[in-house]
Amino acid sequence: MFKKEQIIKGVSASPGIAIGKAYVISDDVFKVEKRIIKDADLSEEIKNLETALLKTKREIVDIQSKMAKEMGSNYADIFDVQLMLLEDRVLLEEIIERLRKELLGVEYIFFDVLKKYKRALEKLNDPYLKERAQDVNDFGKRVLKNLTGKDASHIKELRNKAIIVTHDLSPSEAAVLNPEYVLGLVTESGGSTTHTAIMAKSFEIPAVVGTGSIIMGNIEMDDSLIIDGSRGIIIVNPHQATLKEYEAKKNKVDEKFLNLLKFKDLKSQTKDGVSIKIMANIELSHEVKSAINHGADGIGLYRTEYLYLNRSDLPSEEEQYQAYKLVTLQMASHIVIIRTLDLGGDKLVSQLDMSYELNPFLGWRAIRFCLARPAIFKVQLRAILRASVHGNLQIMFPMISSIEEMEEALKIVDEVMQDLDKEEIPHNKDVKIGAMIETPSVAMTCDHFKGKADFFSIGTNDLIQYTIAVDRINEKIAYLYDPAHPGVLRLIENIIQKSSENNIPVGMCGEMAGETIYLPLLLGLGLRYFSVSPLIIPELKLVASSLTLDQAKEIAREVMSFSSREKIRQYLSLKLKEILGSDYEELIEV
Ligand code: PEP
Ligand code: MG
Repeated sequence: MFKKEQIIKGVSASPGIAIGKAYVISDDVFKVEKRIIKDADLSEEIKNLETALLKTKREIVDIQSKMAKEMGSNYADIFDVQLMLLEDRVLLEEIIERLRKELLGVEYIFFDVLKKYKRALEKLNDPYLKERAQDVNDFGKRVLKNLTGKDASHIKELRNKAIIVTHDLSPSEAAVLNPEYVLGLVTESGGSTTHTAIMAKSFEIPAVVGTGSIIMGNIEMDDSLIIDGSRGIIIVNPHQATLKEYEAKKNKVDEKFLNLLKFKDLKSQTKDGVSIKIMANIELSHEVKSAINHGADGIGLYRTEYLYLNRSDLPSEEEQYQAYKLVTLQMASHIVIIRTLDLGGDKLVSQLDMSYELNPFLGWRAIRFCLARPAIFKVQLRAILRASVHGNLQIMFPMISSIEEMEEALKIVDEVMQDLDKEEIPHNKDVKIGAMIETPSVAMTCDHFKGKADFFSIGTNDLIQYTIAVDRINEKIAYLYDPAHPGVLRLIENIIQKSSENNIPVGMCGEMAGETIYLPLLLGLGLRYFSVSPLIIPELKLVASSLTLDQAKEIAREVMSFSSREKIRQYLSLKLKEILGSDYEELIEV
């Protein structure tokens, strides 16, 4: 345990300062408290278990039949392991026998027995059976909820303001964080572009990730904490003086964000009037309000896969249509780019049989999944196309890695349009359809997409990981993950140049677009469309309006001649200071 004040360094994930008590979430689903019972309680305990198992069975059968209806029985079969566990007499007998012998609460015995099953599966060499350990985990979570009424993650239980400290938080767990209670977030794993970090930014929750295995077991529930999300620092049990210093700093940071709001209505243009668009990235439809409040010129990336997380069924066409329509109507004539389902990587949904893969970011994700599951893809496309009549909606495919994938995806859109025509359902036949550039293969061949892609958006979060060969969620190599790598910059330069030669509008929606120091460089390279976390929009408008295009071009020329990442970053920071003058101290560097 950290008794004295201690400073821990992690990776900066979401800006701002949080001061509060730690709320530690153990990632061990099977950690259930021991509760001593009496002989006389035995039959009640067994009855509780049977009721919970019955309830779990009803839930699973229900989900299974819904899935069978929507997607066919093959998909519904994925719950078979959980149903088998429910019917397993040996498992039940072992639990009852141990209950009688040990006289401990049924939830403890149940999980202890299940833990053994899980470990046995994990040890097997057969990859299929190994993966079934995840089914045992899910099963355990379901029964736990029905036995104790508690969710395994405990996130939803948080009822007092606190800083969450945990080993890892999945994007689906991050999606249910309640900003009213969550003051800040610390995770041992992850890098700055994990989706958990991106969600924290959306919710305006300061976050530090990737601390390594130093946190769990050292920070205890209710320990006093300070987190500085901009600098990636955590201070455990701070001294009084540190606390005072950070309280003052926090006021200054909060003031900075308020001050920046003044710039939200600035025209998105350079000092000499070159017009650009600064749009917002959103994950959930209600975030459109934040986009509008921060002066977004549109929605440049709507990560629709969040509609598919935290549920046991799939979102219906109607539900999706309503969500897309809501966002499109609220953005009026502005562009709304709806990215089709990008599941896989760090965003898994068990109801789609997206099981464990050795290299999930190189695996069955995004457009690859959609092309392999056209029935699911078509439901989403129908919903998007129906919503396309309500405004300036555009469609974007994630993780395109070859022209063939683009063609295949376009063919499916075509089929869906024909179906809608037959059913006389209105949709925009000229809807613009673009691709994300997230793979070096497409970055190098984007000119081949002329006539196929109406626009591009550079997804630097993935493009960087694939270019430098650095897993974006692995904290051990987070130091290598760097937008300033000259190899990354040359790819970006190539994309912008080739797209412009072929009249394909190109934007950027990865986190790099929201890192203020890169804006002059990107403008100088010719980028005109940016899509960022809403919070950053006013800052970018201020920077853009403080420099001319010639200045930006000169900065780009210089940067592209450097070979050192460090030199590039230093040079860009220096230039930003020069561009902003007195605004710099006040607004950017707090
Ligand atoms: C990206 O890769 O840059 C991107 C915007 O997509 P995501 O972060 O959702 O993978
Ligand atoms: Mg991506």
